[in-house]
Amino acid sequence: MNTKYILLANDNTDQEAIEEAGSVIRSGGLVAFPTETVYGLGGDALNHHAARKIYAAKGRPSDNPLIVHIADTDSLQDIAQEIPEAARVLAEKYWPGPLTMIFHKKACVPDETTGGRDTVAVRFPDQHTAQRLIKSAGGFVCAPSANLSGKPSPTTGRDVLEDMDGRIDMILDDGASVIGLESTIIDMTSDPPELLRPGAITLQMVQSCVPGVRLHRAVDDQDGAPRAPGMKYRHYAPQAPLYLIGRDDAREDVTGRIRTLCEQAMRTGKKVGVLTCSENAGCYQGASVKILGSEDDEEALAHNLFKSLREFDREGVDIIFSETFDESGIGFALMNRLKKAAAGSAGKDKEP
Ligand code: AMP
Ligand code: MG
Repeated sequence: MNTKYILLANDNTDQEAIEEAGSVIRSGGLVAFPTETVYGLGGDALNHHAARKIYAAKGRPSDNPLIVHIADTDSLQDIAQEIPEAARVLAEKYWPGPLTMIFHKKACVPDETTGGRDTVAVRFPDQHTAQRLIKSAGGFVCAPSANLSGKPSPTTGRDVLEDMDGRIDMILDDGASVIGLESTIIDMTSDPPELLRPGAITLQMVQSCVPGVRLHRAVDDQDGAPRAPGMKYRHYAPQAPLYLIGRDDAREDVTGRIRTLCEQAMRTGKKVGVLTCSENAGCYQGASVKILGSEDDEEALAHNLFKSLREFDREGVDIIFSETFDESGIGFALMNRLKKAAAGSAGKDKEP
C-alpha cells in the first residue's frame, strides 16, 4: 500500500487535505492524525472492518480495545448507553482535552472497536486538526496510538511514518504533539470510578470535581491483574533494555551509580544511552545523553520521553539507563510510562 504523507500548511489548503482524509476513513481506510496527546491511527469507529485493519496495521492484539474520538460532547450519547452525572461534570471541565472515559456501549459500536467488551472508551481531543478530521470522517473515529504495538508512542508525523509507511492509507502531519503522553483513562462504569491510566489530567484534578474517583490498583503494580490489556507487559518500549536508577538516595549517588553502570557497559563495547534532567546532563561522558528537561518541569520531562526513546532506537544504543523523576503532576504519568518501558528489560539483557 502506498501511504500518502501530507504536511499541513496551516492555511486554506488544509481543508482539502482534511476532507480527503475524512473520506478515506468514511470508506473504511486508515489515517494517522495528530492529537494533543500523541498521534492516533484513525479508522471509522462504527465500521468493524476498519477496527480490524487498525489491529493488523499496528500488530496489536485484537482484545486490546480502541478509544473512540469524538469532536463534540453531544456525540457521546450516540455511543454510550448511560452517562453518569460524574461523567458530565468531568466532560464539562476537561473536554476537549486529554481525558478518556469508559461507558457501557450502545449496539452501534462494534465488538471489534471495543476488543469484545460491552464498554466503550471515549475522548474529545483538544487539537484543531483532529477535531476537523473527526467531523469530516462522520463523527466517530477509533484511534490507538499510531505506532507498531509495543514501541514508544509517536509524537510527530515522522515517528508515524517510520512505523506505518506502507501499512496505512494516509498520514496528516501537523507538528509535534503538545503533551507527548497518552490520555488519562477513567472507567466510569465502576463504582467508584477508577483511573486506569494516568496522563496529563491527574488524579487530583479529577478528584477536585468528582471526589470519589480512585486509582485502579494495577496502575502502579506491574504484577497486578490487568483490567485492560493495555495495562500489562512491556509497552512504550525502546529496542534496547532500559534500567531505572532510583532517586531514593542523594543525587550524587544516582548520577554516580549511573556513571559506574555506563562505564561498565562501555568497557564491554556497548553503546550506552542515558535519560536525564538538564541539571545532571554533564555527568555522563561517553554516553548518548538525552535531556528530558529541567527536573522541576514535569511537562517538559513528559513531553520529551517518547521522542527520546525513539531517538535511542534510531541511534541503535545497546542499553539505556534512566534517572527517575518526581511523581507530582504529570510526573506520575511519566514515571508510569518509564516503568512500563523498563518492565521486562531484565529478560533482554543481563542485569547490569
Ligand atoms: P491507546 O493505546 O492509547 O489506544 O489506549 C487504549 C487503551 O485504553 C487500552 O489499552 C485500554 O487500556 C484502554 N481502554 C480502551 N477501551 C477500554 C474499555 N472498554 N475498557 C477498558 N479499557 C479500555
Ligand atoms: Mg498505545
